[in-house]
Amino acid sequence: MTEIERHAYDVVVIGAGGAGLRAAIEAREQGKRVAIVCKSLFGKAHTVMAEGGIAAAMGNVNSRDNWQVHFRDTMRGGKFLNNWRMAELHAREAPDRVWELETYGALFDRTKDGRISQRNFGGHEYPRLAHVGDRTGLELIRSLQQQIVSLQQQDFRATGDYEARIRVFAECTITELLKDGDAIAGGFGYWRETGRFVLFEAPAVVLATGGIGKSFKVTSNSWEYTGDGHALALRAGASLINMEFIQFHPTGMVWPPSVKGILVTESVRGDGGVLRNSEGRRFMFDYIPEVFKDKYADNEAEADRWYTDPDSNRRPPELLPRDEVARAINSEVKAGRGTPHGGVFLDVSTRLPAEEIRRRLPSMHHQFKELADVDITAEAMEVGPTCHYVMGGVEVEPDTAQSTVPGLFAAGEVAGGMHGSNRLGGNSLSDLLVFGRRAGLGASSYVDGLAARPSIQQSDVDSAARWAQAPFDAAEGGEVENPYTVHTELQQSMNDLVGIIRKGGEIEKALEKLEEFKVRARNAAVEGHRQFNPGWHLAIDLRNMILVSECVARAALLRTESRGGHTRDDFPGMDPLWRKQLLRCEVEGDGVSVTSLPQLEMRSDLLDLFEREELQKYYTDPELAGHRELP
Ligand code: FAD
Repeated sequence: MTEIERHAYDVVVIGAGGAGLRAAIEAREQGKRVAIVCKSLFGKAHTVMAEGGIAAAMGNVNSRDNWQVHFRDTMRGGKFLNNWRMAELHAREAPDRVWELETYGALFDRTKDGRISQRNFGGHEYPRLAHVGDRTGLELIRSLQQQIVSLQQQDFRATGDYEARIRVFAECTITELLKDGDAIAGGFGYWRETGRFVLFEAPAVVLATGGIGKSFKVTSNSWEYTGDGHALALRAGASLINMEFIQFHPTGMVWPPSVKGILVTESVRGDGGVLRNSEGRRFMFDYIPEVFKDKYADNEAEADRWYTDPDSNRRPPELLPRDEVARAINSEVKAGRGTPHGGVFLDVSTRLPAEEIRRRLPSMHHQFKELADVDITAEAMEVGPTCHYVMGGVEVEPDTAQSTVPGLFAAGEVAGGMHGSNRLGGNSLSDLLVFGRRAGLGASSYVDGLAARPSIQQSDVDSAARWAQAPFDAAEGGEVENPYTVHTELQQSMNDLVGIIRKGGEIEKALEKLEEFKVRARNAAVEGHRQFNPGWHLAIDLRNMILVSECVARAALLRTESRGGHTRDDFPGMDPLWRKQLLRCEVEGDGVSVTSLPQLEMRSDLLDLFEREELQKYYTDPELAGHRELP
């Protein structure tokens, strides 16, 4: 029997990024006792890295903007595979969530007349991203943390204990969810510093663990993005959807090698930056897909006029959705028109005065100067695609964020559905707040509705402890693997075989390799003891990465079309029949099974927001029978 530290809460939130903190605030405001558990330091999450801004149709810079336009843009960006109810809630509620942040202490950049300023971003019809320079995520996390501190001060006044109702457990990794019958009963984990085990008993758990980028070699994501939440949900019996859709951001740094993949924010293009190949050609005009032809300028003069007169001109093609721009860059480099280091040029220096660049893009200026010795006010950057975001995630009920497992909720990047096959820039930060809040509400009302608290079996605790300790026992077996080597090979294989452009044969090869990685991960051995042992941490994370990578590869093999963040070289077109199907992943044995799930038909008042001419690009004729004709 394993003796361990125990804590009991009403709601346990796993993850302290934007989604987790907003969920925790809501649950606490609903009167629940809440634990926030995060594997990194408190305040260090992907949310803090967000640069460009948060999308919300406030109409401050262009009064034509409203939630319906935002909804339309989001559905178009996701190529109509989005869960339309989530896209609707998101577009309707995002402005309130942004304003609410200012009541928590955030201060966004302002327009001349004092309103929250909004900037252009790819795929958004109007300037829509509220921002704080290019450090928006920092302000978001700072103000959510400030709100938590303020709630703790209220609790101190009421109870004499700051942590009476909300407590943060930082540098603590959850390795397993525990259940009582079908329902969630808590989570098991370890303190990263001491290696000691810890148990959280709770009738409701909110997953807010972010994404999976560390399964790929070139990524903008940091060490925490090992798909833990996705894997925890799967092993607890929940399902994942849309896992074939991975967003490769078009602009990551390509040089020097030590920083390859680090993000170059889309704001550079939103604020006027243009993409050129090694021949100096502004190549994006060659890559405007049919579905977007009426919305994007087909010549430089019109594209440039758009920055000062957006109402009478079409947008520059550099601001197409990310999947389109990433594929275009990939094609230019493959065609031999890349930069010396295998990217393309992104130039803002000839488009804005140096002072303006330093004011609008301070982090980018600093990042390139420090890491690549490039002054972006005087020369072009070299950029290329980098694995950035996973559209797929835990299948949730849109209004409550509850998964298919009672008591298990998910919000933020770990949840699936909202972004369909491709996310628009800025729509993640707003997603975190809208669905973080809803998850906190959903978890609280779930707890209120329970007749009795679930209980955890000691045998389940013992087996979670055995599972976590297994990498120490592997050292005693025959064949021994180094977890770092297996991780590096997994990343290379996912990049090469299930990356930005995919082929059936290559995905099959990836699946064979994943079977080998599974065996090798079981033999991944660590030495020493549990006190801060990064090799052990990686050996545990590796099993999650392999499970989640299998979801990506299996779903990618089944979807025989190209859409958003899933491009099949052998099936280059978008197929309207595939729009009607989602792919759902569940655990089967030590692997994953993928089945088809029909897409829910969009509510007719929402469908009516689109012209028939546009819908015809995505829907079959019989589906559109009865939809209104063009006026
Ligand atoms: P995160 O903020 O990543 O938080 C995840 C949390 O889960 C962390 O606290 C982590 O420690 C914890 N965790 C993970 N696993 C475990 C575990 N096993 N046990 C305990 N804790 C765990 N989006 C926009 O909308 N606008 C932008 O301008 C923008 N810029 C970006 C720039 C960069 C460089 C990057 C990488 C992303 C950017 N994004 C942007 C995307 C956006 O930042 C992320 O999608 C979003 O922040 C994810 O938030 P989250 O709350 O879901 O997860």
